[in-house]
Formats: sequence, structure tokens, C-alpha cells
Amino acid sequence: MSECEVCGKDTSGAKKAEIDGVILSVCEDCAKLGKEVYQPKKVFLQPQHSISSAPRAESIESDSELAQDFSSKIRHAREKANLTQDEAADKMNISRQMYKRIEGGFKPDDATAKRIERFYRLELYVK
Ligand SMILES: [Zn+2]
Repeated sequence: MSECEVCGKDTSGAKKAEIDGVILSVCEDCAKLGKEVYQPKKVFLQPQHSISSAPRAESIESDSELAQDFSSKIRHAREKANLTQDEAADKMNISRQMYKRIEGGFKPDDATAKRIERFYRLELYVK
């Protein structure tokens, strides 16, 4: 429950009014004493739920799929090659950010996965 800051009356739909330069929560009646202030409605921006138009990588027909532990395979291969994530990404021409995500478990698309396979001479796909 909110109270009118002028008369103290309980007021459910408290209004904001500017009285003597002060903005107060007031009741309907007291609102008339001052200048009613319309509070801007909160506009909730619809998050642009990206209609992911990007074609799913799975469209490449194959009966094999990425190994469950592809990310650790990649990481181990990179460590064996004595490369940092940035170096490896640069050498494979994959964005560093993407490469880090992949090592973190993000499934790369087939083209990227194949590139990583070739680079490390790995088998990332399993039947
Ligand atoms: Zn009042």
C-alpha cells in the first residue's frame, strides 16, 4: 500500500504530481493540486531473438558425428604441438574467439572441424 505524501490517505494507484517543484506520490485528489507527472512507461525492448538464419552445419550429410570429447582432443593436440590457442587459431585461420569456444566445448561447423582435423591430423568424427 502506498500513501499519499500530501494527505496521507491510502492510495492504491498512486499518482505522481509535481507540487511546488517536488515530485510526490499522491492520491487522485491531491494530484489536482499540482501538476501531474506522467511516468514514462517502461519500454521493454524485445530482445532480438535472432532468427538464426545461419544454416545448420548438420546439413552436410554424413553418418559420423563429432566425438563427444572433441574439445579435449583438440586441446591435447594443441598442447602437443606446443601452441597457444591464439597461435593455433591463427594458423588455421579460425577466429581466436571461435577457437576458444571450440576448445571450451562449442561444436564447430563441419568445415571448421575438418580444418582442425587436418591441422592436427586428428580424428574428430566418430561413427
Ligand atoms: Zn492526497
